[in-house]
Amino acid sequence: MFNLILFGPPGSGKGTQSEKLIEKYGLIHLSTGNLLREEIANETTLGLAAKSYMDQGQLVPDEVVIGMIRSMINAKPEAKGFLFDGFPRTVAQAEALDNLLAEKQNEINIVLALIVDEEELVSRLLNRGKTSGRSDDTNESVIRARIVEYETKTAPVADHYAKSNKVVKVKGVGSIDEIFGSLTQHIKL
Ligand code: ADP
Repeated sequence: MFNLILFGPPGSGKGTQSEKLIEKYGLIHLSTGNLLREEIANETTLGLAAKSYMDQGQLVPDEVVIGMIRSMINAKPEAKGFLFDGFPRTVAQAEALDNLLAEKQNEINIVLALIVDEEELVSRLLNRGKTSGRSDDTNESVIRARIVEYETKTAPVADHYAKSNKVVKVKGVGSIDEIFGSLTQHIKL
């Protein structure tokens, strides 16, 4: 299997680039944000529990997202590989993912980290909020809270994977195709 983490702060373009990458490489897209929003739309117990955290710009508890990812991975034994988008977001999630993959004699092959500065992120998210229907994108204080969560809890995930030299930084500003071109240069598949 080839397993890729597309890493970066909220608004760095992970969703957009993920769509293009899964098409090119035939990977299965696992976006915890999308999975959680589906749970909310279906009004499941998990969705109801997650919603209050998401509305405040806070991370959903690790057990919840790890459980979701475990069942998605187990449901796809024939997968050529996975593209993880918005996961792992804490070091505990990264360790759980490494263990899940190791049980299947697999590992994370590469972490591609999109680099975008904070003011650009805020303006992209506010812009997305005008059309996305996502309530967490319309309120600037919720957006800032998500960026703080990213800096305190998620940025250390890059350090975790840097220990095994898996992290490659990619400039996340430019046209969608330029950024896609830079990402694909690092994927040997
Ligand atoms: P963005 O990257 O734009 O913030 P996402 O769709 O990835 O958007 O996530 C939206 C929200 O869902 C996050 O702010 C968080 O509350 C929750 N969430 C998504 N993925 C995770 C995760 N792996 N761990 C904890 N919470 C998560």
